[in-house]
Amino acid sequence: MSRSLTPYSEEWFKIVEERDPIRAHLIREHCVSAGNDNVCYECGRHTQMDYYVLAGGHDLQRRLCLICVKIYKDCFGEMSLEVVTLKQV
Ligand SMILES: [Zn+2]
Repeated sequence: MSRSLTPYSEEWFKIVEERDPIRAHLIREHCVSAGNDNVCYECGRHTQMDYYVLAGGHDLQRRLCLICVKIYKDCFGEMSLEVVTLKQV
C-alpha cells in the first residue's frame, strides 16, 4: 500500500517520520530551502523524478536526482530503480 504513496505527501512523511525521523527532518529542511518539494531524497538537489526502489527491501517511492540514481544503480544494480512519475509543473 505504501508503495503508491507520493513522495513528500503527508502520509509518506508519516511513515518516514516513524522509521527515520532524522531523514524526514532533513527532507523537510531541503524543501523549505528550495521553496518547493522537488528535492532529492538523498542529497536535497533539485529533481522532479520519483522512483520506486526495487532493491534493499524498500517499499516507499523516493524522489531522486540523477547523481543519486547513478549511486543507487552502482550499489544495487542497473535494474534496481523503476521510474514512477515525472512530476508536471
Ligand atoms: Zn541526490
